[in-house]
Amino acid sequence: MTDCLFCKIINGKIPSDKVYEDKFTYAFRDINPVASTHILVIPKIHVNGLNDLKIENIDIMSKLTLSAQEIINTEGVKENGYRFVINSGMDGGQTVSHLHLHIIGGRKLKWPPG
Ligand code: AMP
Ligand code: ZN
Repeated sequence: MTDCLFCKIINGKIPSDKVYEDKFTYAFRDINPVASTHILVIPKIHVNGLNDLKIENIDIMSKLTLSAQEIINTEGVKENGYRFVINSGMDGGQTVSHLHLHIIGGRKLKWPPG
């Protein structure tokens, strides 16, 4: 989508601190990190968010998860732990309408989230 921030990051129109890329996914450091590891993993095709996943495109979640596992290894947070977060909609705190998986790690995280 031409006016989507994350689509612009994927096609290089907006710079990003890339940590991983494959045929289906792209990952980069969050511009406003909440922990020493804070990475966003996104599908290369535009999907607004979790509400738009259905049986036909649910493989997007598998691809995000597999890419995230690679990143967790290279970031060195596999042993100590980390969190996967997908914010959805207004109450969920979603600010960018392109599906993204936050990988957050590198410190002891609080629960429940605020
Ligand atoms: P969410 O609030 O779940 O929609 O997450 C959006 C995330 O994108 C936030 O954590 C922002 O800090 C992050 N973000 C926004 N713009 C950029 C950017 N240009 N580069 C990297 N991260 C960004
Ligand atoms: Zn997009």
